[in-house]
Amino acid sequence: MYSTLEKHVGRRLIRPNDVRYDEVRKVWNAVIDRKPAAIVVCESEDDVIAAVQFAKENELSISIRGGGHHLAGLAVCDGGVMIDLSHMRKVTVDEKRQVAVVEGGATLGDIDLETQKYGLAVPTGTVSETGVAGLALNGGIGYLRGKYGLTCDNLVSARVVTADGVVLEVNEKNHQDLFWAIRGGGGNFGVVTRFEFALHAVGPEVLALDVMYDFKDAKDILNKVQQFLVQAPDEAVSLNLTATVLPPAPFLPEFLHHKKVIMLLGIYAGDAKEGQTVIQPLRELAEPIIDQTGVVPFVEFQKKLDPMVPKTVPVYGTSLFFDELDDTVIEQLLYKIDNAPAPTILVQLWALGGQMNRVPVHATPFAIRNAKFVLLVDVIAMAGDDAVCKQWIDSVYGGMRPFSYKNASYLNGIGVSDDVTTNAFQENYERLVAVKKTYDPSNRFRHNHNINPQG
Ligand SMILES: Cc1cc2nc3c(=O)[nH]c(=O)nc-3n(C[C@H](O)[C@H](O)[C@H](O)COP(=O)(O)OP(=O)(O)OC[C@H]3O[C@@H](n4cnc5c(N)ncnc54)[C@H](O)[C@@H]3O)c2cc1C
Repeated sequence: MYSTLEKHVGRRLIRPNDVRYDEVRKVWNAVIDRKPAAIVVCESEDDVIAAVQFAKENELSISIRGGGHHLAGLAVCDGGVMIDLSHMRKVTVDEKRQVAVVEGGATLGDIDLETQKYGLAVPTGTVSETGVAGLALNGGIGYLRGKYGLTCDNLVSARVVTADGVVLEVNEKNHQDLFWAIRGGGGNFGVVTRFEFALHAVGPEVLALDVMYDFKDAKDILNKVQQFLVQAPDEAVSLNLTATVLPPAPFLPEFLHHKKVIMLLGIYAGDAKEGQTVIQPLRELAEPIIDQTGVVPFVEFQKKLDPMVPKTVPVYGTSLFFDELDDTVIEQLLYKIDNAPAPTILVQLWALGGQMNRVPVHATPFAIRNAKFVLLVDVIAMAGDDAVCKQWIDSVYGGMRPFSYKNASYLNGIGVSDDVTTNAFQENYERLVAVKKTYDPSNRFRHNHNINPQG
């Protein structure tokens, strides 16, 4: 069964009896323990084609590992073929066309490192080790979203290996249906071996908002942030609020250990001097515990949260979009936070607006273009706490959903279910089904927020 594939990829094929198997099938969420029939650690597009053809001949499903960071561990599957792209991370800048050419296994840090050599940036996310593939294919919400849109809005072309093992170059002119579908529709349609993203002049230094407040002021802060956003320019709307209990970690001063705080982070995506005045009210929402706002290298700020994110960790999480955060919504959320089963929570509210919300709903599959916030709630399970953590996450989702925007969730921050998928894509779902039928009628690529080719 394996001999043809082995002839193509040699030792890059890893089977269950291989000593490397357990290490390579690990993903960011340590709760996940899935066992593929074969893992192909690809070093080229030819390896990807060989792996896809092997899966097709043996009627196996395919999971794709970009950065392996999806909460639901979608990069790895039971009994199928895992296509591991973690050795395909090359990034180059085409200055003339103002695009970044990015291999399918690159991380956000790989992109920032290369593009910042030219004072340019792709709008991506906020933790540098996250894979760009999964992030971009289902959206991509970072500090530049207000000024330049989502990561998927900045995709200008891609190379896709389809379920038949054929390579397609997709863009505004070629395979327009597929180009539309991959700008939000996830990894449903094939393996993206190479992305081209639009670049924007950002940095090398930026004004970064970085204030920490006491959690006791959370309600007041949320109300004041909403007032600020009514008048804020695109440069200042991409605010990330995070409620957490700080760990007793060596990178934090001792007085912050175990303290429940609310952090406010953002990048002013424009002239730093002008930005100082614009963002000043955000530094005075309450008495700050620490205010590290200032001009810093873009690359450094993009890594600001890295020390708080372990390489692999057992996590449960959920997500929902919101319009207005009125008193009832805020009180319900604060109640949930107060009743968390463990201190290891990360409750994030990201303000949405500006350019990302100006993209028409039908222009890409990413259908939520009018919400004002996305909520992302994660809890790290301590030993033996899995059941209570999962229960709490379910209760956050169930308790907050009645107040949410169209019952929709951000697919990059939630586990899979049919309901979650259709609610996220809304009226774009039917068109995604049609594209899925064309490019993957047998649903070979099903380890994702799945578009069922049967509708
Ligand atoms: C610590 C952390 C921080 C995060 N921060 C942000 C943030 O700031 N903004 C944000 O928007 N999101 C954020 N996320 C969520 C993130 O967008 C998702 O986890 C995303 O799926 C990560 O992409 P990945 O390539 O690492 O995913 P993987 O787990 O490797 O894959 C996820 C899905 O994408 C598919 N896929 C992966 N690579 C390819 C490919 N090359 N071609 C086709 N399909 C592919 C997989 O099959 C799978 O279905 C964060 C997640 C974590 C864990």
